[in-house]
Amino acid sequence: MIPIIIRSDKITKALSLFISVGAITLFPFIIVRSDYDNPTTINHEKIHIEQQKELLVVFFYILYVYYWLKGKIKGMTNQDAYMSIPFEREAYNNHYNMEYLDKRKRFAWKDFRF
Ligand SMILES: [Zn+2]
Repeated sequence: MIPIIIRSDKITKALSLFISVGAITLFPFIIVRSDYDNPTTINHEKIHIEQQKELLVVFFYILYVYYWLKGKIKGMTNQDAYMSIPFEREAYNNHYNMEYLDKRKRFAWKDFRF
């Protein structure tokens, strides 16, 4: 499945409630702000598309919030809690590798839990 990429400064701005949103994946859409529109960001968001697919979308969002709260309970800043989410850790670790998604094993984000 090919994600549907929406390039919109308006939508990303409207979604920037708690943090400034440069790009966001809301399966099957990737919404990206013009100054974030580059191959690395798109690859990062495509990794989230795969994670969302394998977790039937809803479980991705539940676990995403769970891992963020886990970081907050440990006393992390919002930014550190975000960077501790296994989905983000997998994506940040691999978004420069344009072949990553060709070789990625299913549920690879599980290796980024701690
Ligand atoms: Zn991300």
